[in-house]
Amino acid sequence: MTTALIIGAGVAGPVAALALQRAGIDAVVHEAHEGPADDAGAFLTIQSNGLDALRAVGLDRAVVGAGFPTPSLRILSGSGRHLGTVPNGGSLADGTVSHTLRRADLYRVLRDEALRRGVPIRCGARLVGAVTQGGRVRATFADGSEAEGDLLVGADGVRSRVRTLLDPSSPPARYVPVLNVGGYARGVSTSARRGEYVMVFGRRAFFGWAVAPDGQTWWFANPARREEPRPGELAATTSERWRDLLAGLYADDRSPAAELIRATPGPLRGWATYDLPSVPVWHGRGMILIGDAAHATSPSSGQGASLAIEDAVVLARCLRDAPGTTAAFAAYERLRRHRVERVVARSARISTSKAAGPAGRVLRDLLLPVGLRIAAGRGSGSLAWLHEHHIDWDEPVAVA
Ligand SMILES: Cc1cc2nc3c(=O)[nH]c(=O)nc-3n(C[C@H](O)[C@H](O)[C@H](O)COP(=O)(O)OP(=O)(O)OC[C@H]3O[C@@H](n4cnc5c(N)ncnc54)[C@H](O)[C@@H]3O)c2cc1C
Repeated sequence: MTTALIIGAGVAGPVAALALQRAGIDAVVHEAHEGPADDAGAFLTIQSNGLDALRAVGLDRAVVGAGFPTPSLRILSGSGRHLGTVPNGGSLADGTVSHTLRRADLYRVLRDEALRRGVPIRCGARLVGAVTQGGRVRATFADGSEAEGDLLVGADGVRSRVRTLLDPSSPPARYVPVLNVGGYARGVSTSARRGEYVMVFGRRAFFGWAVAPDGQTWWFANPARREEPRPGELAATTSERWRDLLAGLYADDRSPAAELIRATPGPLRGWATYDLPSVPVWHGRGMILIGDAAHATSPSSGQGASLAIEDAVVLARCLRDAPGTTAAFAAYERLRRHRVERVVARSARISTSKAAGPAGRVLRDLLLPVGLRIAAGRGSGSLAWLHEHHIDWDEPVAVA
């Protein structure tokens, strides 16, 4: 039986292991961190296309059960003007819509499901090297241990080690000029309806929120920041400093941002935004990249996790149907590259518009309502290509 080494137990890794299992390939997942994911304040949306891909490997129910539905997006200007309401993804045939959940919960659910179905996950295993000999890949880890398989899947995120092993000249992640801070506020009543994200292109910074079923308001802020933060700078920024900074940024907006931030207990943390517009080498010598390792997108698209899940399922189908690993990897790249790079480019445009200066803001607020109407429609500017993407597990992959 073919065996795979999967590097990374984030989103793409556990899904790939389960999809490969379904394709008759044994996988072991190697994860650098010892414990569960710790990402206070970070939540994300699995959009309809991501849920569709999860369904192909029977993971959709577990993920949906850890979140709440958020099928709609209402967009306002800092003065409170309604700029548009658009669907936040599509809906599956049975009516399932995009869901929001904490990143740590998504990781936990996927890992638990992988373990329950017999996939070994080795924690504390940080990949440092890999060589290919006689058609086998041998991986080495920071603790001196080794593992061998017929192929190696790099699901090791935006700072992927596998990417640099495949191509030492691979471009580094690109800084996108907005920061991220998020949190969970209690006891504030806002205009957000159940199932709805409200997002505000504020005078100085972007802000969004949704209300969870328990009444807490989940919010995120995107302060614009032209220069990339210095290493360690954000980690050294205290919660008090974040609170001061955010209070100033949102003071003049007609939105509940400042109140929500005040009503958020506990520490606040911020992190920078990076993406990877086009990684030249995705595979070679029995190794392949999936998820953020191949094509990280800024969070503005709400698609990073969904694309990582799609990748994992498509790769397993290719390995199931192609006559060998090299042909499978080529088929995977052919099926994936155009789609994912289109999403990364779109997301970078949205992120940049969040950081617009005064003139750009005026133009944006004028043009956005038109753009939103087009995106919500069924015409050529529609997002159906993104949200209604369907993966049919049983359909054989056409190998060129
Ligand atoms: C603030 C924020 C908000 C986001 N919002 C959204 C959203 O709304 N919707 C959405 O779809 N996506 C969103 N994303 C993006 C999403 O989290 C990622 O796209 C997704 O997690 C990618 O999955 P992945 O498995 O490719 O990488 P990751 O989830 O990053 O997993 C990589 C794993 O590899 C491990 N690893 C790294 N190096 C090594 C090594 N050398 N050896 C072994 N293991 C290693 C890491 O510890 C990690 O567990 C957001 C991201 C952030 C930061």
